[in-house]
Amino acid sequence: MLGTGVAIPQKDRVQSGLVVEAGGHRENIPVLFDCGCGVLQRIIESGYRHTDITNVFLSHLHLDHCGDVLALLKANWLCDVVAMDLWGPVGTVEWMNGLLAVYPYMQDKVDITITELNPGMVVTAQGLEVECVRTVHALPSLGFKVTSKSKTILYSGDTEPVDEIVKASDGIDLLIHECSFPDTFDITNHTTPGRLADMLRGTSPGRIVLTHLYPQTIGFETIMVRVLAEACGCSVEIGYDFQAIEI
Ligand SMILES: [Zn+2]
Ligand SMILES: [Zn+2]
Repeated sequence: MLGTGVAIPQKDRVQSGLVVEAGGHRENIPVLFDCGCGVLQRIIESGYRHTDITNVFLSHLHLDHCGDVLALLKANWLCDVVAMDLWGPVGTVEWMNGLLAVYPYMQDKVDITITELNPGMVVTAQGLEVECVRTVHALPSLGFKVTSKSKTILYSGDTEPVDEIVKASDGIDLLIHECSFPDTFDITNHTTPGRLADMLRGTSPGRIVLTHLYPQTIGFETIMVRVLAEACGCSVEIGYDFQAIEI
């Protein structure tokens, strides 16, 4: 977990970012899921080489999930790595073209292959099978169900609790789900623990790690974990930056 925070800065959480490696540490090239502001710094703080991060999936195009993509491209170019495979929802090509139009000096410095994704699509990257799952957010968005060697994780990105994520979570090894606010907030486009628990009840992911935590969650961690653990009967944790999880 490189970044477990949101658009509002917090001392110990940068914006969204998650690295997945198939087959164990350093066996495969790492794949990055989301690249919000602060994630480029977290890549090197975590002991990765930013030049190894050339496969990037974006759950959606809110800044706290993609704000460091251009910074990563520039850092890699300065170290003679210009290729990047980028996967994202519909609109990713237009978004990248717009970014490069604002920074024309970058245009001939990078070699980006963009694949736009829709729910239900399955693609492969660096030993990972990545299935796109429908999510509900303020703009086109995806969750990613990632499988390697019969181990499966699901990363929700930003979403309200949705049936597709719940169904895709049954029997997996790890669910990394956003939990933006405690239940004292009445919100849309995001998840609170009570609403997620209501949908997940009876489903059995092996373990749940909560991410995308707004500052408003501070002080509610214990109750957030308890509500979900009671509904799912599995291990539930509040995620944190630099958290390493082996499956
Ligand atoms: Zn968002
Ligand atoms: Zn977000």
